[in-house]
Amino acid sequence: MGYAIAEAVLAEGHDVTLISGPVNVAPPHDARLISVSTSDQMFEAVHQHVDKCDICVLCAAVADYKPAHVSSNKIKKQSEKFSLELVPTRDILTSLGQRQDRQFVLVGFAAETDHLEENATKKLRAKNCDIIVANDVSDANSGLESDVNEVTILFRNGEKKKISRAQKKFIAHELVKIFSHFATKMFDKKNVTIN
Ligand code: C5P
Repeated sequence: MGYAIAEAVLAEGHDVTLISGPVNVAPPHDARLISVSTSDQMFEAVHQHVDKCDICVLCAAVADYKPAHVSSNKIKKQSEKFSLELVPTRDILTSLGQRQDRQFVLVGFAAETDHLEENATKKLRAKNCDIIVANDVSDANSGLESDVNEVTILFRNGEKKKISRAQKKFIAHELVKIFSHFATKMFDKKNVTIN
């Protein structure tokens, strides 16, 4: 979905910085690609580039946990049970939502298996984003690892829009229109001066 959004944004003539973990999709030619392989690298890269953006879309399925210790050597097989200690990763979206000085539109994604709108609305508030794009991943033919998707877009003021089941490319174009419209309204409001 991230790559489809990047392509749709480029097609509208805007610049794109694409911060991506390892995927099996070719990146769009004109995007500035920053490849990362850990959640910490993604956290740092996002914070490094976000201030040059008008709209920041976070749709990566970032790992929620990472190993507490990383071994520099191969871990030898043992005959007993073996457990890995995991610690939570930093939530990139939340860290951006907490920024008081933010000058960009913040868009998050919520992949849910139940109570789609209720859970996504909670996420919108908890992570303090402007827009959250919710999709139901309980259907194996839609969402993750699929070319089609169906999304509900929730805004902070309670407004919502739905894009019915369609190819991800089409959804990406519709999303970009919605994000751009929101950004134009937001920046226009900021630029109003009262004499
Ligand atoms: O809480 P949950 O993982 O469902 O939230 C999904 C949203 O949070 C997505 O926009 C995802 O990119 C973002 N996220 C993040 N950093 C994490 C985990 C999720 O930015 N460590």
